Amino acid sequence: MKDLKIDSKVGLSNGVEMPIFGLGTFQSRSGKETRDAVAGALRVGYRHIDTASMYGNEEDVGAAIKESGVPREEIFVTTKLWNSDHGYDSALAAFERSRRRLDLSYVDLYLIHWPVEDVRNESWRALETLLEEGKCRAVGVSNYMTRHLEELLEKSSTVPAVNQVEFSPYLYQRDLLEFCRRSNIQLESYSPLTKGRKLDDPKLIALASKYSKSAAQVLIRWALQHRIVVIPKSSRRERIVENAGVFDFVISPEDMKALDLFDQDLRTSWDPSTAP
Ligand code: NDP
Repeated sequence: MKDLKIDSKVGLSNGVEMPIFGLGTFQSRSGKETRDAVAGALRVGYRHIDTASMYGNEEDVGAAIKESGVPREEIFVTTKLWNSDHGYDSALAAFERSRRRLDLSYVDLYLIHWPVEDVRNESWRALETLLEEGKCRAVGVSNYMTRHLEELLEKSSTVPAVNQVEFSPYLYQRDLLEFCRRSNIQLESYSPLTKGRKLDDPKLIALASKYSKSAAQVLIRWALQHRIVVIPKSSRRERIVENAGVFDFVISPEDMKALDLFDQDLRTSWDPSTAP
């Protein structure tokens, strides 16, 4: 476990390697805030940035990458298809708009942001086309529950490389994690810090103090030790550094089990569990 580093990678089902740790950018404002956050993260050693068309900051993510001087191929960039852009032709066009805003020749991972009923499988065909054409290195989904994945796997021979869902000790979706593992789908955790809501939980703080770490660092490390890709968001320089300080300690197996029991079905984002 100590072997994990800031740029450690997991192998996706199609052979592409994805850094297990990255920067989230939801609610990072467009302009200087996002540019500084991405630039700062790249300086600290982050090599994976998560954005989405809906976040309105793809241009800034792309500009910060370009200005960083870090070779493009060393950075893993994810963006997402927004709900109003579903459908085969619309998804292709939306991808192209995202790619241009990012000003990149390819995107590393393109995700369906949400399993929009009736049209999601048409959109998936578009993602297959983008993959075949080499415009993205991997394609996947987000907010897919097991039944959405089952439907997709039944209809398509392209396994989504990744499923990005809300995941933390407070929302330990063990069945979904196991389903993804069995199906060769890499699980990725969003809102790993519960959007900050549980960072003052005394149980969590007590556990973190044993390791002389912050509550946020323990939540991130918990995901890493479960071999889940994790993308904590911050636009503050000191927190971007803090959140990357998770590669010099190991949570014991007993404490991992204790954290697993923190589950209280807490969702801090939208809830796909009832999405048809
Ligand atoms: P996180 O759980 O990452 O929490 C982010 C919040 O915590 C921000 O308010 C941030 O504030 C604060 N914070 C960050 N670091 C610390 C720290 N060390 N100590 C105290 N507070 C801290 O929430 P997100 O919802 O942003 O999830 C992470 C990423 O996942 C998103 O940014 C996005 O890229 C992705 N995502 C995807 C979704 C999807 O539907 N696919 C849905 C939601 C998120 P500040 O910035 O001021 O530091």
